[in-house]
Amino acid sequence: MADRGNGNSDWWTRAACLGMDTDLFFPELGDTMGGVRAALDTCKDCPVSVECGRYADMTRACGYATCGVWGGRLRKQIPDKRKETDG
Ligand code: SF4
Repeated sequence: MADRGNGNSDWWTRAACLGMDTDLFFPELGDTMGGVRAALDTCKDCPVSVECGRYADMTRACGYATCGVWGGRLRKQIPDKRKETDG
């Protein structure tokens, strides 16, 4: 696993995805879902999936620019409501 932020804990050092291609976990528009499925399969056996999901929630990883697979879920970017009401 590449940079998931380490904060004050080391849960990420026990991640099942450690060393895997991060592109699988952070798909871009137009990518096939095959990579995402591989990522989600990895999460199934991950010993720190709870910590990973909690980290994503705490940092609101997908409320902003960073999205992707965290804690066994594909988290998608939440539209910025402010942009919808501006104008
Ligand atoms: S739950 Fe998935 S994304 Fe999170 S650390 Fe484990 S393998 Fe990586």
